[in-house]
Amino acid sequence: MNLKAPRGTRDILPPASEVWNKVESKIKEIYRQRNFWEIRTPLFEETDLFVRGVGGTTDIVEKEMYTFNDKGGRSITLRPEGTAPVVRSYIEHKLHGEPQPFKFYYFGPMFRYERPQAGRYRQHYQTGVEVIGGDTPLIDAEVISLGIDILKEFSIKGWVLHLNSIGCRECRPGYIEELKSYFKKETVCKECSQRIDRNPLRVLDCKSEECADLKERSPSIIDYLCPDCSLHFSQVQELLTSREISFTIDPTLVRGLDYYSRTAFEIKTRELGAQDTIIGGGRYDGLAEILGGPNAPGMGFGMGLDRFLLMLEKNSFANYKNTPLDIFLVTIGDENVQKESWKILNMVRKAGFSADMDLLVRSPKNQMKFANRIGTRFTVIIGEDELAKGVVQLKDMEKGTQNEVNIEELISNIEANYRGG
Ligand SMILES: [Zn+2]
Ligand SMILES: [Zn+2]
Repeated sequence: MNLKAPRGTRDILPPASEVWNKVESKIKEIYRQRNFWEIRTPLFEETDLFVRGVGGTTDIVEKEMYTFNDKGGRSITLRPEGTAPVVRSYIEHKLHGEPQPFKFYYFGPMFRYERPQAGRYRQHYQTGVEVIGGDTPLIDAEVISLGIDILKEFSIKGWVLHLNSIGCRECRPGYIEELKSYFKKETVCKECSQRIDRNPLRVLDCKSEECADLKERSPSIIDYLCPDCSLHFSQVQELLTSREISFTIDPTLVRGLDYYSRTAFEIKTRELGAQDTIIGGGRYDGLAEILGGPNAPGMGFGMGLDRFLLMLEKNSFANYKNTPLDIFLVTIGDENVQKESWKILNMVRKAGFSADMDLLVRSPKNQMKFANRIGTRFTVIIGEDELAKGVVQLKDMEKGTQNEVNIEELISNIEANYRGG
């Protein structure tokens, strides 16, 4: 039997996993500096959360969810996205009663049954933020600029911010009627002809050539915004401009569900060939109510880490090797030597060095080979005779020097060598 990771999934092995850790810690630092706090929600939720919270007419819910019945007969879904679980949690724990707004960030895998391709996996990793409990333009600008700050911190260049407002419950219905009658007069692709009545905004999302030209000429939502939405949108733009963040207004950037409102944005790059969205998000003022909660407007973004890491591979950041070990102990002798070495190992670790020893009782020659393979900075050779004298051999692998040192002076010797070299 040939057991493999399921199609669309992969293992992240060292040293790549170390690059992931480094990238994630750096993003966390950026979040924490801006007063965002981590939230960890379950990897699976009741299916109904996503049917209501993502929308029954979306590709995600129609085609891409991992849904199954558990042994208790409940319909369970592996989370396909991060926002609905965070809002569910906000409602469940009555966080609207706490000081507002809540600024969350999350990291973790998401699951979608999609065609696997470069940088797209059925278990993919995502980070994102959600600010819940406020609807000011300041919040929108804070979220959007955070996304851009992340790209800047990692020296990603050539990104473009696409910005739109998709209106609100007051002004969007009029636009949707206008859009419907426009599309009905034109020829759309087969899939879109079914979408026109159910969700005409999704035609603006269509990737087929038949619809591409149509989109350009279709009525623009911006002409239909009510005075409140219009003011909100211009304030968001002013805030971004005040931080010298450039953007393109993109009226075809829509999110087709009722609870999405006002600001929608995508940050795209060409780093991976075709223009690709690396960060996408927007405002979802109606979501908490759809999920049975109070009126709690929110704004957030999601960022695909698989593709982000692919992008970093093209930059110098990911030319990163595992930090080599400081100290490896080579033991020559019986159980007693191993026991004493085990104690020395603890001593050097407590002093703050990364350290390891031979755990397989190999020959001294093979232990030295191993130490060379893993690229340790120092090797400490511990033998029976040396232990009797209270000394060990300290080998500096970089300089190729070897000295006998007292065990009590081992740490100060290593520290001196580090300083000297
Ligand atoms: Zn409006
Ligand atoms: Zn189409």
